[in-house]
Amino acid sequence: MSKIAFIGLGNMGLPMAVNLKKAGHDVHAFDRVPAAMEAAAREGMTASASAIEAVSDAEFVVTMLPNGPIVLAVMAEIVPAAASGAVIIDCSTIDVESARSASEMAEKSGLRLLDAPVSGGTGGAQAGTLTFMVGGEKQAFDKASPILDIMGGKLVHCGASGAGQAAKICNNMLLGISMIGACESFALAEKLGLSAQAAFDVISTSSGFCWSVNNYCPVPGIGPDSPADHDFKPGFAAELMLKDLGLSQQAASGTGQATPMGEHAMQLYQSFLEEGGSGKDFSGIIEYLKTAARPAD
Ligand code: NAD
Repeated sequence: MSKIAFIGLGNMGLPMAVNLKKAGHDVHAFDRVPAAMEAAAREGMTASASAIEAVSDAEFVVTMLPNGPIVLAVMAEIVPAAASGAVIIDCSTIDVESARSASEMAEKSGLRLLDAPVSGGTGGAQAGTLTFMVGGEKQAFDKASPILDIMGGKLVHCGASGAGQAAKICNNMLLGISMIGACESFALAEKLGLSAQAAFDVISTSSGFCWSVNNYCPVPGIGPDSPADHDFKPGFAAELMLKDLGLSQQAASGTGQATPMGEHAMQLYQSFLEEGGSGKDFSGIIEYLKTAARPAD
């Protein structure tokens, strides 16, 4: 049994921390929202009065926070208070630069920090089947692996610090683009009088097959159960897709890489959110695309 500090008990963090607790670890939890602290206490975790209190003597510190500035602010608080030899595992999705800065901050205090963003959503967090994409020292990765294994189904060590965030951003940029492509295809099929079932049966077994069509079809009643079958209740919210596409464009601009499809996908998700997409799953963009005005031919 290890003492683990868990900071950030939101939609993802709470079920991840619950799995650590269920596996028999001594989990000391902190969130700035009282309701989250109450939920953690109900699950048998120790509710700490502050992030600093939570990390004292902890062997592992897991953070699951909204964005880069918050992660850096929390690291500035906890790094000086963490026990020597502690491994910090930041599971938040943030920009690569902030991930590298957080790691440098930890290193200067003799600690090791892994960037370990996840995919799999709240369902994966509850089931303990998340995929972890991890950047940072291999030795720290090996030490953290038994802890990550409890929360995840697959761990990939992607390379040095920041590599986990790089993998996450590249994957989600492609996911945003491919979901828009899938939605455009089903919307056009409908206008052409092709049934969604026929379109699915062909595309899902032809060269257009992809996760967005085969596993997460944006049309109700077609393919495996997906948010389209539940009025686009997330799943993976459009707001989070916009956040990740924004991170991809920040990375593209920082490296000078052209990503015209990623940029366009970000603009389309921005428009979708402005026109009723807020609170919907990211696959709900099909509704926006079906009604969007076509530029004059
Ligand atoms: P969330 O907003 O539900 O949870 C974030 C938690 O952090 C909140 O409870 C908030 O009170 C807490 N927090 C904020 N500032 C804090 C501080 N200074 N100290 C302590 N606690 C603080 O968000 P979420 O959906 O759990 O997502 C967390 C991270 O995981 C994000 O980076 C998100 O992009 C990423 N992510 C989310 C999903 C998903 O499906 N929700 C999937 C993959 C990755």
